[in-house]
Amino acid sequence: MKITKIEVVKYQDTLNNVGKDYNTFNMVYEPNGKLTTEDSILLIHTSEGITGEYVGIRGPALAEVQVVADYLIGKNPLEREEIYNDTKRALRHFAMLGTGIIDICLWDIAGKLYGEPIWKLLGGKSKKLPCYASTLHGDENGGLTTPDDFMEFAEQCKSLGYPAFKVHGWGLARNNIKREIENVLKLGEKFENKLDLMIDPACEVKNFADTLALGKACDEAKFFWWEDPFQDGGVSQFAHRKLRQMVKTPILQTEHIRLLEQHVDFIVADATDLVRAGAHEDGGITGVMKIAHASEGFGLDVELHGPGPAHRHIMTSIRNTNYFEMGLVHPNVATTKSPVYKDYSDDLNSIDKDGCVEAPNGPGLGVELDWDWIKAHQTDKGIIAE
Ligand SMILES: [Mg+2]
Repeated sequence: MKITKIEVVKYQDTLNNVGKDYNTFNMVYEPNGKLTTEDSILLIHTSEGITGEYVGIRGPALAEVQVVADYLIGKNPLEREEIYNDTKRALRHFAMLGTGIIDICLWDIAGKLYGEPIWKLLGGKSKKLPCYASTLHGDENGGLTTPDDFMEFAEQCKSLGYPAFKVHGWGLARNNIKREIENVLKLGEKFENKLDLMIDPACEVKNFADTLALGKACDEAKFFWWEDPFQDGGVSQFAHRKLRQMVKTPILQTEHIRLLEQHVDFIVADATDLVRAGAHEDGGITGVMKIAHASEGFGLDVELHGPGPAHRHIMTSIRNTNYFEMGLVHPNVATTKSPVYKDYSDDLNSIDKDGCVEAPNGPGLGVELDWDWIKAHQTDKGIIAE
């Protein structure tokens, strides 16, 4: 079996009631807002007629796949370990994002070849995956604008069945830390022992002192974890070790460092309690399984970054993990994703009554692309290599 062709399909979509906040980086609720999004699907074709599919490749990741595309032609797609290591080395001057996208396609090919879902190839056992509602960032538009708004939404998520709720706070460039702290304390007061609560300031708190104040509030409110609080970009081992010495709430770092070695270095430096990993950024399913097993060896849990079918397969196959990230969700936004799948969604109502989802059971990733929708929204299509 050989890789014969690598192709990309680009499409455009419009998300309703969505806009961008002060710095254009955070997606937020905007009444009647229409946000144009552009995304791509990567297709890795093989001599057996099986195609590996990846939804959501863009920007630097797509550029990285283009760098290694000629290398992939003629390779056996089942030799994932060698391809992981070769592409990682080839992309070491970049972000090594291409490695993960390619690896997910290769696992999709393997599952389709063997006629089994990826979680079975990984040795997993079918199980329900508890979800946390992961909110859109706080906005200034009357959606999630006040701590009371967040409390109301947390109540809604609880009644839908969610066992856990994670705040993405307000962009602190325009605000101060007080509103963020008030939100944490109010949520803790109302939902203690009812919801596992988390907060992810997404690296927007400006300095160590404000970060520490937020951490102390998480302690008081008995938060389940806090994540990427301040604006070092989430990468300083020293600063996060320091925070761990001063705050009791478990911290979740390593979303913004890449691949196995950097994750292990972060753990050994005592700089995180929970280990963040993502198939899209950390070398695919192969890369995350390495990180998950390394973390298991240290007695630590891995929490997967963001939703998607690949993460459902991984979560079904590892012991040391807690929650599936469902999001981003908002009371007034139906979806933040394009309807590219016929039979799969990661929206507010995608959970069962217990707040859980399951991994798809079809071959490979186990999801079917809706080519009618994709073709109707297609803007470009091209062969990267053959
Ligand atoms: Mg995060």
